[in-house]
Amino acid sequence: MRQFRCPNCGQRVYFENYFCERCATPLSFDARQMTMVAQAGAHDCVNRQHLACNWAVDSDASDFCLACRLNRTVPNLSEPGNLVRWQKIESAKHRMIYDLLRLGLPVKSRAEDPSHGIAFDFLSEYPGAKVLTGHDEGKITLNIAEADDAEREARRAQMHEPYRTLVGHFRHEIGHHYWDILLRGSPDLPAFQALFGDERADYTEALQRHYENGPPQGWRQSYISAYATSHPWEDWAECFAHFIHIVATLDTAADLPLGLGRLSGRALQDSYREDDFDALLKAWVPLTEAVNEINRSMGVSDVYPFVLTPSVIGKLHFVHMIVRKAARAAEQRGEVAVERARVSA
Ligand SMILES: [Zn+2]
Ligand SMILES: [Zn+2]
Ligand SMILES: [Zn+2]
Repeated sequence: MRQFRCPNCGQRVYFENYFCERCATPLSFDARQMTMVAQAGAHDCVNRQHLACNWAVDSDASDFCLACRLNRTVPNLSEPGNLVRWQKIESAKHRMIYDLLRLGLPVKSRAEDPSHGIAFDFLSEYPGAKVLTGHDEGKITLNIAEADDAEREARRAQMHEPYRTLVGHFRHEIGHHYWDILLRGSPDLPAFQALFGDERADYTEALQRHYENGPPQGWRQSYISAYATSHPWEDWAECFAHFIHIVATLDTAADLPLGLGRLSGRALQDSYREDDFDALLKAWVPLTEAVNEINRSMGVSDVYPFVLTPSVIGKLHFVHMIVRKAARAAEQRGEVAVERARVSA
């Protein structure tokens, strides 16, 4: 994401900041203007009291901000460790919601869309009550153990995954939601099926087969991850997550002194709204190669441990096309509240 400035003194501030570290002005993120505002006069989200949200409320109808209104179940804060887990979860979730707003996709709560609206359930696992992270008709469940670094790393190793993060979970699960509202029954469905396969294949059976047998031989040629091989819906959700990884990280890089325009041959105005998919890719590949090398020199894992083959690029291109189409349609319906000028300024 782009850099933010303190509205009082101009100091660089971060997306998660509650105060300016230079002048101590209380800060809130205003999701309509996509900018940091001084808290005075702004109405802060109720979850600020738990340091779980620094957004301003955007409507008179709720004491919660646009991101927190989507919560249905939050962790039981009387249990030790849950406050810190929840804060990490909210931080990742708020980044994902920011992504959706920048992409211009419709973000609807359960109250606004009772059949498909987004609702988050952040649940603890107990003996006999397993919690599976997943999506079902707008309802997104997250096992809060994923907020514990050691737990998540153990699961990552056990599943042979090169990358497992909270923000990655959110970008994946929300991908299922947008499949439902953008592709189910749409004229673009045959093109989806040609690229990703027939999603009418039995989902439970497909997942069971994947967990028993692992991915097919040579899967890297056609899939971004082993998990993407399990079912066309999972392939879509993985590609959707990667598309957001790409535009979100390019957006951050665009504001840093990296000479990205020189690397890619062209400067991107707004990666989230870029219509030229090849321009995104031309910037993304050299950026990931450079940052992976930087990570290796510090002895940490690659920031982007994935290979984009022509077949995977074709799928990412399709995600890009669907997202841009949905954003343009939402804009025409006047549904997008974000002030474009503020973002590209
Ligand atoms: Zn300041
Ligand atoms: Zn909030
Ligand atoms: Zn999934």
